[in-house]
Amino acid sequence: MADYLSGNAKLAEMPLEDGLSASQLLSNGDGLTYDDFIILPGFIDFTADEVDLVSPLTKKLNLKTPLVSSPMDTVTESDMAIAMALCGGIGIIHHNCTPEYQANEVHKVKKYKHGFIRDPVVLSPNHSLRDILNVKDEHGFCGVPITDTGKVGGKLLGIVTSRDIGFLEDSLYESSTKLEAIMTKLENLVTASSGVTLQEANVILEKSKKGKLPIINDKGELVSLMAKTDLKKNRSYPNASKDENKQLLVGAAIGTRQNDQERLKLLAAAGVDVVIIDSSQGNSKYQIDIIKYIKANYPDLQVIAGNVVTNLQAKNLIDAGADGLRVGMGSGSICITQEVMAVGRPQATAVYKVAEYARRFGVPVIADGGIQTIGHIIKGLSLGASTVMMGSLLAGTSEAPGEYFFSDGVRLKKYRGMGSLEAMNRKDAKGSAMDRYFHNEMDKMKVAQGVSGSIIDKGTVLKFLPYLLCGIKHGCQDIGARSVNDLRTMMYKGELRFERRTHSAQQEGNVHGLFSYEKRLY
Ligand code: IMP
Repeated sequence: MADYLSGNAKLAEMPLEDGLSASQLLSNGDGLTYDDFIILPGFIDFTADEVDLVSPLTKKLNLKTPLVSSPMDTVTESDMAIAMALCGGIGIIHHNCTPEYQANEVHKVKKYKHGFIRDPVVLSPNHSLRDILNVKDEHGFCGVPITDTGKVGGKLLGIVTSRDIGFLEDSLYESSTKLEAIMTKLENLVTASSGVTLQEANVILEKSKKGKLPIINDKGELVSLMAKTDLKKNRSYPNASKDENKQLLVGAAIGTRQNDQERLKLLAAAGVDVVIIDSSQGNSKYQIDIIKYIKANYPDLQVIAGNVVTNLQAKNLIDAGADGLRVGMGSGSICITQEVMAVGRPQATAVYKVAEYARRFGVPVIADGGIQTIGHIIKGLSLGASTVMMGSLLAGTSEAPGEYFFSDGVRLKKYRGMGSLEAMNRKDAKGSAMDRYFHNEMDKMKVAQGVSGSIIDKGTVLKFLPYLLCGIKHGCQDIGARSVNDLRTMMYKGELRFERRTHSAQQEGNVHGLFSYEKRLY
């Protein structure tokens, strides 16, 4: 008994090793998903706030936060890409649209200036008081810059605000009165020139005691607008992902067809920082050819290839010159690839196997698809991924493309797979170009690899992403990893310990035994 309590010397010397290393967990031939395992806790000697989330997206691009939004037409256009970059991640603009539309979305991100309204409502002097009243009804404001063309980019001639309308003489208060007669003319306006910083513009706006500050270029053309009402809302984003010109980073997806070379030209001209070659099975001659084409013609452009789930697939793309790899086949929430094609791989195994191979060549890996919770993000990163790509987690936010609608009193947005028939047959003003799920022009019949559905309103990404980031930091702290890079190092050294979860262990790890509960996350 005494022996048992005090422990004899031999027992005390026994190694304290517990759990499995990643290679023990993932190299026994079973395919595992994120829910099939858990990470054992480590030692904490730092605060969660100190955890560093910097991680590489590609060989040459680093992100301050390891989050990427998926190139899907219900997830990423310019609004999402701007929000992702402001929070330190990156958005990849989808290509289910004409090349011109996509390049313009890239352009909007590159030209974005925080706090400046890029596409204000603008009218011309020939518009009437009725038009201003319509703007007020529709948008709730009536501060409208007036340019010769009635558009942004036209010569600024004046502005109409509530003050111009409120004190109108009776004779002018006719709905047909032209704005030329009402507007405050340019000579009486306070404006700022296009190089102005957010701080400088704020000072000018405050001093002028005006509600709106038009920003013009050296030719007197309207570039953007600043509104006093937005001033208070302007937070700063110290972690924003930016290039050397201080413009936000943005990516774009392309296919592997001949006409994608034309698309690429427009995207490069718009200033895209990285392209993703969008294919569900990336190990193809077509993809190798386009990687080589990009490397020969756009040597400064970073290229992410994929998708892959095995190291043999990865090898061909790395050999061709890929700067990053996108990993996942069949794990996406809207995906039926494994069901229809009988190919793919459970995501945890896929991420570990590809990352373990690609790191030998300094090629970072994106864990793409199947991310439903913060825990899944941490698991993806702990298996060697440098970043994670999300579709469903970001769909339904105000920055995702598409209008909200109600069903049974619930506010929803559409979320669909890019291989769903609906996405592949898209016919609207944005055009369609979905060849992710076709390999050649001869494919006459479309076989769906995805579904179309809806997702609950999640509010703005600008609040949701800080919640995700805070959660990732707390997860790293519990594991004892001071940074995302440390997490990977610890895993490869075998210091990170894992354990398989049985079905009942998974049940135990979720809320259970309650009659009812509310799951509020932040
Ligand atoms: P989620 O984050 O689980 O919703 O998965 C998003 C990922 O699913 C995307 O980044 C794509 O890799 C993948 N994906 C998108 N559309 C389809 C599809 O129609 N079929 C299969 N996979 C898809």
